[in-house]
Amino acid sequence: MKEELEVIVNLHMHTRYSDGSGAHKDIAAAALKAGVDAVIVTDHNVWTQGFEGYYKEKTKKTLMLIGEEVHDQARSPQKNHLLVFGAGRELATFADNPQRLIDQAREAGGLTFLAHPDDPAAPAFNETDISWEDWSAQNYTGIELWNALSELKTVVPTKLHGAFYAFFPALVARHPIPATVAKWDELLAQGRQVVAIGGSDAHALRLKLGPFARIIYPYEFHFRTVNTHVLLPAPLNGDVNADKKLIYEALAAGHCFVGYDLPAPTRGFRFTAQGLEKTAVMGDEIAAKGGVTLQAKLPSAAEIRLLKDGQVIQTWKNKMSCAHITAEPGAYRIEVYRRYLGKLRGWIYSNPIYMR
Ligand SMILES: [Zn+2]
Ligand SMILES: [Zn+2]
Repeated sequence: MKEELEVIVNLHMHTRYSDGSGAHKDIAAAALKAGVDAVIVTDHNVWTQGFEGYYKEKTKKTLMLIGEEVHDQARSPQKNHLLVFGAGRELATFADNPQRLIDQAREAGGLTFLAHPDDPAAPAFNETDISWEDWSAQNYTGIELWNALSELKTVVPTKLHGAFYAFFPALVARHPIPATVAKWDELLAQGRQVVAIGGSDAHALRLKLGPFARIIYPYEFHFRTVNTHVLLPAPLNGDVNADKKLIYEALAAGHCFVGYDLPAPTRGFRFTAQGLEKTAVMGDEIAAKGGVTLQAKLPSAAEIRLLKDGQVIQTWKNKMSCAHITAEPGAYRIEVYRRYLGKLRGWIYSNPIYMR
């Protein structure tokens, strides 16, 4: 990949076609306001047709793509939610068998991501645990490393906490759920390539808390928080099908990172590997032989951690770039942290570069 172009994609969200409160046009309006390049709508167990395309306002435009979040509604509890992008067909009929669902989505040319792999119960809000269970599954594209809504469930032991975070949404996001990160590292350690994405799981639900009613949370707020930044080999040119293909191919290859854009924009982050014969970007493989220079660069200074097979091997504080030379095979990835509203928070999670 010579020169990459970066597009900001907000993915995983719900409309009135399932349990969200907004319409597709509300999502488009919020996306235009927040300035995201594309959104992927994923209603529960329904592939909504007729909404894909560019939505425009003055000089701004945003691309809406339609995927689906599939799970078995007859299962109790209703675990194993799977995000499907780009299959171009309804797949909810395969919901009762996660492996068959993944295989069918693949056969249709689609991408599959395990949604909110750890999604704890929130008894104060009658929310049950809907984590991913079926870890024997194979051949999915990746996992939703950071799900903004699952994280909210980790901080609301009581209704009072819920009320607090309803009014101070910026305090919720700290980092992906650690168990999910550990599970990802475990899968990578098996030699698998597993693409990480960040999802908002936006519903824009109206929550009544005593005398107050709040929207938890507005689509536009979500679009300014956890995004998936995708690196493309060519610019989007306005043709819906061509642009959709570019985005989905880059996601499938792991040419992307998860950015929490609220504290500061993450646009411009890069993680590359320079080997003897080629340069690799996030998601790529590169030969370890002869040594490789790993490099990360940030849009603004922060704390950079380089991980190899799930272990931090080097940390740089208050830096805008870093480099590390190695000839050791492994899955290398970057995490970046920065202080925001009194806490050190996860800011950027790269996909791995696989040194073989
Ligand atoms: Zn879900
Ligand atoms: Zn969802």
